[in-house]
Amino acid sequence: VDFAPRSRALYERACRVMPGGNTRTTVFYDPFPLYLVQGAGCRVTDADGRVYLDVINNFTAMIHGHAHPAVTAAAAAQIARGTAFGAPTPAEIELAELLVDRIASVEQIRFTNSGTEAVMTAVKAARAFTGRSRILKIEGAYHGSYDLVEVSLDTPPERWTSPAPSVAYVRGTPQSMLDEVIVVPMNDLAAARTAFALYGETIAAVLIDPMPNRAGLVPAGMAFLDGLATLAHAHGALTVLDEVITLRLGHGGAQGRLGLRPDLTAMGKIIGGGFAVGALGGRADVMAVFDPRGRRPVLPHGGTFSANPVTMSAGLAAMTLLTPESFARLDVMGERVKAAVNASFMRTGLPGRCVGCGSLLKVHFSAEAGDDYRGAYADPTARARLAAFHRGLLERGVMIAAYGLMALSTPMTDADIDILIEAVDATLTAIAD
Ligand code: PMP
Repeated sequence: VDFAPRSRALYERACRVMPGGNTRTTVFYDPFPLYLVQGAGCRVTDADGRVYLDVINNFTAMIHGHAHPAVTAAAAAQIARGTAFGAPTPAEIELAELLVDRIASVEQIRFTNSGTEAVMTAVKAARAFTGRSRILKIEGAYHGSYDLVEVSLDTPPERWTSPAPSVAYVRGTPQSMLDEVIVVPMNDLAAARTAFALYGETIAAVLIDPMPNRAGLVPAGMAFLDGLATLAHAHGALTVLDEVITLRLGHGGAQGRLGLRPDLTAMGKIIGGGFAVGALGGRADVMAVFDPRGRRPVLPHGGTFSANPVTMSAGLAAMTLLTPESFARLDVMGERVKAAVNASFMRTGLPGRCVGCGSLLKVHFSAEAGDDYRGAYADPTARARLAAFHRGLLERGVMIAAYGLMALSTPMTDADIDILIEAVDATLTAIAD
């Protein structure tokens, strides 16, 4: 029986014009991904007409699910008035004001077109402000495809030394670039201390995601986050918090939830209302590197579609809908899912667990205890079980990311959460059998 003949046919057609039929590595899984043709609220429809509960939400970006009427109306109204100009528009000020208002550490903002660009531009701002070139990052943490930060993503444990210059993730990465990035393991403050003792005078910024998805979606410890900030500042370096994903953890982002005050913050995903977006913000004295008044800025930064008014209008509508109560409700739903998935693991006796916080969750099929994510990737049994889990959920009408990530959305009801929990339980039962 062919599970999805129309998607298969589309995929075969795509293979003729795109490498492996693919233009976005993240959305590929074997033997071919399902093609979606429509979304409404928390449901999406594939090319074969099958409907799924969407628990990917475009890799966490669609916090209101699909085609929310208020967001659609805001975007449509702006599209009718023009989509992009060679001039600023009032819409960018409104979204910037909302973000400055909500996110405690953010005094000034620049918009970009992706989270990748937001991180890249934040790193460049830290370099321009400090006059230094190096950064420190965490092993396994993904920060987009800027080649400076797309390093040390899957270093085999036997190659770990700490602290260490970064290890290439992509063939052909210049050694000179790898030397610019110092890597420490998550929550290893001793390694960070050594890194600063060795390289402190050359480090412009510490780049950290408070709950890195690719590194396992386990929150960083508060002592580590505070310790890193203290170390950075003692050595004249800045802190850059990557909130591209974690902004959806609270009205003031993860930093509001945790009481962090980074010098710079990279944002993306939810702030664009479903359109391509990124932003960086932070201390006004640091952001002043972009100030063009009277001279060439210390750090020029443009972008043909940066702050385009369609994205800004949709983003403003989406962010305005997100009240403190929305986050409280997402938190309750997330805790329910996490507890239920962990109960299913216990009941079936399968090794594994659900981690994460708020509306961001991840399922690991790892026998390892503790917070070590490496076992999950190294262990072929865990990999096979994750693939069966993803497929089993699809067959039961639930779509999660192939690597186990789940992101909830505001249109989900308690009944939708029941559907998700029941599908997980049935799938884990089938895998255990
Ligand atoms: N930082 C983090 C933590 C991310 O998860 C991502 C993308 N998933 C990025 C940066 C890059 O964002 P984008 O895909 O919008 O370039």
